[in-house]
Amino acid sequence: MSLEVSQLTKLYGNQKALDEVSFSATPGRILGFLGPNGAGKSTTMKVITGYISANSGVVSVMGKDPVNSPKEVSKLIGYLPEHNPLYLDMYVREFLEFSGGLYGMSGQTLKSRTREMLNRTGLEPEQHKKIGQLSKGYRQRVGLARALIHDPQVIILDEPTTGLDPNQLVEIRSLIQEVAKEKTLILSTHIMQEVEAICHDVVIINKGKILASDSLSNLKSGV
Ligand code: ADP
Ligand code: ADP
Repeated sequence: MSLEVSQLTKLYGNQKALDEVSFSATPGRILGFLGPNGAGKSTTMKVITGYISANSGVVSVMGKDPVNSPKEVSKLIGYLPEHNPLYLDMYVREFLEFSGGLYGMSGQTLKSRTREMLNRTGLEPEQHKKIGQLSKGYRQRVGLARALIHDPQVIILDEPTTGLDPNQLVEIRSLIQEVAKEKTLILSTHIMQEVEAICHDVVIINKGKILASDSLSNLKSGV
């Protein structure tokens, strides 16, 4: 298992946002983290990435935990938050180089990695545009490219297709399937169709509790 979450409990004040949440994710299989708004999806993602800490429980990302090894974990994880923070005044290429720099990449490594990401996400023709000039679908590609710039093993995408039109949706989904090969990918969503479209496994969360955790085919056949 490259990602294991065990018995996470998280309180905001005295409200329980996560109640003993446990699940694991496997490389090469897209895990859909499905639940309605307020279920605890973003909170779980933020605990996995080390952005916030849980009150109890353990996260293991390739054997490292975000509390004791925050630097290692940030290198292992690529995270696309729900409210994807992009610098609208920056040029696409400039932004990716800046983001890679934050992971300590520099010189030729940074340049070639940026070129590769522009290529893989279909952003090459847009590289000299400002992010603010791009459509929502293209901004989402920039967010994906940024999340992947340091070649992470575990990829966490929080509601990555919200607000996209049908064409953009198809394109971003196929991009996600492409990047998921050999990596561990968690996709959080409140839409079952999203899980059916591209996920192999599904974990269902509601009111901070895990209701089900299985392969999509087992879940659909009611096993
Ligand atoms: P989801 O991502 O599934 O929509 P969240 O993890 O954002 O759910 O939220 C889970 C619960 O925790 C919700 O009731 C939400 O209002 C609450 N919550 C989330 N973030 C905070 C916060 N920073 N402070 C207080 N409550 C929060
Ligand atoms: P998300 O679903 O990604 O948490 P939201 O729009 O629900 O995004 O929340 C935006 C910010 O507000 C997040 O940092 C979240 O933690 C915080 N937040 C969400 N719900 C609450 C709440 N009930 N009280 C305080 N902060 C909250």
